[in-house]
Amino acid sequence: MGKRAADDASGRGVVAGFAVPFPARMSGYTEAEIEAVVDVMRNADALTQSKRMKQFEADFCAYNGSPHAFALDNCTNSLRLAAILCRLKPGDEVIIPAYTFCATAIPFGGTGARIVWADIDPERRVVSPEDVARKITPRTRAIVVVHLLGMPVDMDPIMALARKHGLRVVEDCAQAPGAEYKGRKCGSIGDFGCFSFHGAKNITTLGEGSILTVARDEDAQLVPGLRHNGCRPFAAPRTRDWVPAMSNVDLDIPGVWPQNFCLGEAQCALGSMLLKRLDTINQTLMDQAQKIRVGIADLPEITMHTIPNDVKHVYHQFVLHFNNNGIHATRDDLLDILVHEKRIRALVQYYPLYRYPLFQKMGFGEQDCPVLEKWWDNSFSLPWWCGIPDDTLALLVAALKDSVRRLKEKGR
Ligand SMILES: *Cc1c(COP(=O)(O)O)cnc(C)c1O
Repeated sequence: MGKRAADDASGRGVVAGFAVPFPARMSGYTEAEIEAVVDVMRNADALTQSKRMKQFEADFCAYNGSPHAFALDNCTNSLRLAAILCRLKPGDEVIIPAYTFCATAIPFGGTGARIVWADIDPERRVVSPEDVARKITPRTRAIVVVHLLGMPVDMDPIMALARKHGLRVVEDCAQAPGAEYKGRKCGSIGDFGCFSFHGAKNITTLGEGSILTVARDEDAQLVPGLRHNGCRPFAAPRTRDWVPAMSNVDLDIPGVWPQNFCLGEAQCALGSMLLKRLDTINQTLMDQAQKIRVGIADLPEITMHTIPNDVKHVYHQFVLHFNNNGIHATRDDLLDILVHEKRIRALVQYYPLYRYPLFQKMGFGEQDCPVLEKWWDNSFSLPWWCGIPDDTLALLVAALKDSVRRLKEKGR
């Protein structure tokens, strides 16, 4: 059995003792990518907020089809900036999927607005537009959607709801860089798109990093100040450019203190390089997923989400469901075999957020998410990274089949 590292709260990153581990990191770097970082270390004059940041932002706009992109230090802070730009305040309501990583909801809770949990769609297993519609009230100000696991949310009905009710839409794209909905990139459809380049994500700018995409010019104008302590040039040109001081510090949104959410130049240089390889990384993940899907196609006890033809799902994670109808065994019995006997580092991810002490203690422990409640407790994640060898994929398929067979025999 793998020993859990002391600093590891996720269960990922534990390698020792497993036949198939779950690395903390999704993929490695090319020599050219390493060189781009070293070049900044050797040669850059400014190490933050300079030309490599501008270049990364321009590259991201071009890649994503977004009018504005801002490099930030992490996606939680991108979501925080989006929450600030939604002008949420106590008394407002914001609809957020309950099935996601906690960082989707925390920044919105921080505004003092009330979090209203949305359920998942039973087929796509990401947020259900019908359930969002059911939860809109006169107090609703914003809808947060999460393209969870890399699977695009059905955005047309979400955008129609937003137009009808005058709501802002935030896309949490932390797990979906390069994912597409009807030919459009995720993060280019709503008002804001929040991308993560954390170490475990499809691409990573040295462990932390993010891009915030912004649709409207009037929102975009506020980001540079809000992300950097309100600093900006003085409005009028000055002959004595040292008078009264180098730069000005002003307010962007009445009553809202600015932040410092900047991303360094080395990370931005690396981000530009990684964008060129993102489609290849995603394709590798998609190919791996397809091999497992084909492998378990004749195993009705293990199911996956349905992927419509009009989306590109970029497989940030690989979540399955144990369909135990008629079998006297649970997901945990299945994981007992996979983890303890077959030594496959399967995990359970994304506890419904209303079940966590944090959200319960902050007053958001209530839920009305029947689909998630019925589905979640039998879901689990297989080990997943970019570049899983074919024989390991075959081993995972064989292990799933054998585990299910044994549980069925035992249950008879
Ligand atoms: C990783 C993640 C975040 C937070 O990203 P950080 O860059 O680590 O702050 C937010 N939402 C989802 C869905 C994530 O997976």
